[in-house]
Amino acid sequence: MDNSEKRTCLKCGSEMTKCYVAEGFRGLLVKNPEGDRILSNKKNTNINPVICTHCGFAEWYADEPENLI
Ligand SMILES: [Zn+2]
Repeated sequence: MDNSEKRTCLKCGSEMTKCYVAEGFRGLLVKNPEGDRILSNKKNTNINPVICTHCGFAEWYADEPENLI
């Protein structure tokens, strides 16, 4: 996702702000269970939230969704 891209809240139509989570280095790490191996799972990506500053609605976007395939 492009950092400069503006997103509009699906709930109230206000502008949304790209945020980050305080846990983890570049966001929360999520993994596709199909990628599970004994020692590693390379089917993973970081996700970060985009939050509506008007109503608080939050959406999550993966930095590298193609990594989950
Ligand atoms: Zn909203």
